[in-house]
Order: sequence, then C-alpha cells, then structure tokens
Amino acid sequence: MAKRSKFVKPEQREIVSAHVLGSKQISPNFVRVTIGGEDLRGFVPMGFDHWFRMFIPDPDASGFRLPTSGGNLWYAQFKLIPKDVRPILRNYTVREFRPAGGVYGDGPELDIDFASHGDLGPASAWANSCAPGDPLGLLDEGLIYNPTPDARWHLLVGDESALPAIVGILGSIDPELPVRAFVEIGHADDRQDVAVSENVELHWLVREDAAAKPGELALATVAAAELPGDPVYAFVAGESDLATGVRRHLVNARHVPKADVAFTGYWRHGHAAY
Ligand SMILES: Cc1cc2nc3c(=O)[nH]c(=O)nc-3n(C[C@H](O)[C@H](O)[C@H](O)COP(=O)(O)OP(=O)(O)OC[C@H]3O[C@@H](n4cnc5c(N)ncnc54)[C@H](O)[C@@H]3O)c2cc1C
Repeated sequence: MAKRSKFVKPEQREIVSAHVLGSKQISPNFVRVTIGGEDLRGFVPMGFDHWFRMFIPDPDASGFRLPTSGGNLWYAQFKLIPKDVRPILRNYTVREFRPAGGVYGDGPELDIDFASHGDLGPASAWANSCAPGDPLGLLDEGLIYNPTPDARWHLLVGDESALPAIVGILGSIDPELPVRAFVEIGHADDRQDVAVSENVELHWLVREDAAAKPGELALATVAAAELPGDPVYAFVAGESDLATGVRRHLVNARHVPKADVAFTGYWRHGHAAY
C-alpha cells in the first residue's frame, strides 16, 4: 500500500507578487493585514490551516527582489539573492481569501492575522507599520493538517500564532466530527467569533500572567483535561515547547500513536525564524 503523505501540497506552486491593501488592529494583540494584486487571481484556497511563505522587504536593504522559482530550488535561489535586495522570509496562514474582494474593492483579497509581538521581529514590525501599496511575495505551501482516516475525534491545540490555523480548520471541518479545541491568547478580547457546530468544544485560554511564556497554559490545560480515549487526530502548533510538549504528553501519557499527532513549532521563544 502506498505510504500516506504527511502534508497536503498545493497543485501549483509559484512565487506570487502582491501588495498591501490595508491593515487594522482587530484586537489587543492582533493586526489584520489584507493583501491583493492581480497575481492572487490564480490563488486556490485550500481551507483548513492553509499556509504560505511570506517575503517582505528588509528595512535595512536597498531593494526588494523575490526568488522566481516556486519549485524545489526556491530556497537555494532565495539564499543567492544579494543581501542588499534579499527579502525577509517568514511563514503565515490564510485567515480568509475573498476571490472577488468586498472590503477594499472587487479584486482578490487575502487576510493575514498577525499575533503582534511589537517590533520584536521584522514580520511583526512590518504588520504594525505597513501601508497600502507596500510589496510582498508569497509561496503557497498547502496544509499541515492531514487527519488520519481512523480518527473518531480531533484535538486542536495552539497559542495565538496558531489561532488563524485553528479557526481555519474549524471553518473547514466536517460538522459531524467531535472536536476539542484549545487556543491560548494573551487577552480575553483576542477571542474571535467563530461559528462552530454543536460537536465542537472551543476553549479560549486567556494568559493572565503577562510575563508567562506563550504555550505553557495550553500545555498544562491539555495535560489536565479529561479527553475521550477513542482514536484521535491531534493538530498542535505554536511555540516550539508547546508543540513538542503536547505531543510528548499525548504519546507517553495517553498512548496516542506518534503518527496521529501533527505537531509544528511555529516559532521559538528567544529565537528568530530563519
Ligand atoms: C506554518 C506556519 C504558519 C504560521 N501562521 C502564523 C499566523 O497566521 N499568524 C502569526 O501571527 N504567526 C504565524 N506563524 C508564526 C510566525 O511565523 C512566527 O511567529 C514568526 O517567527 C514571526 O516572525 P517575526 O519576524 O515577527 O519574529 P522573529 O524574527 O522570527 O523572532 C523575533 C523574536 O520574536 C519572538 N517571537 C516570534 N513569534 C512570536 C510570537 N508569535 N509571539 C511572541 N514572540 C514571538 C521570537 O522568539 C524572537 O525572540 C506561523 C508559523 C508557521 C510555521
């Protein structure tokens, strides 16, 4: 039997040029940046945790040059771009895609929700200061979420960086499927209105201690939760210790097979991405 692939890749993968249409602070710790452009007409939304590589101008560079290859060589090509025009590379999730626009006009619009951590990190700083017309590039990566077919229920766990992914999964999932979702946020008002079926238990976990490391509350909550013993598919994303910690707990304490846990360190406390 053919081995099941770990990820769901997009059918077509190429570097897409886009520009900022607008941005707004939607809650205490979230900035929503909406991007558009003619290239986005070919964008095929896949729902769930659809993510992409994002290229933004380096404020210390004199120009902005995107790689041209969307194939396997894109990273090598990116590294060969001279430093004075090489963009900053980060990873983000499609919060919503509107092929016919609606907020800024009738062209395609793609929303990205940035969990803001001030100006610590070029992507967060960019989201806080970007202006209409600012250029960026995208490279479609498809889905990490790829449930094992035998799962009888799903467990979704993340910190604020994974809020867009978990909300995306909840918006795409079969409404008949039982789901327990735990999303850690830095402020009660960071909660987003999410329409879910009666089979979904969505827990917003608000970090009361501003000095606490994101992810610790979610890990402790999941470890202490009463959860069904039936076969599960778990999607865990966010700060690296949250992702590895929940996986370790599920495998060691709850005897979940390793293959049934998709765990992704979206970021690492104290370390820049790339
Ligand atoms: C598949 C995937 C999808 C993602 N989708 C999203 C998304 O939709 N929205 C989103 O907000 N993030 C998302 N992330 C996480 C995002 O890529 C990282 O948070 C990224 O490091 C931010 O880049 P930066 O330039 O702001 O900070 P970096 O330059 O990478 O880091 C600078 C400093 O900021 C800290 N830092 C980084 N991220 C955070 C954070 N979230 N909270 C607090 N401190 C942080 C680092 O530890 C470091 O000390 C995703 C990551 C992956 C892998």
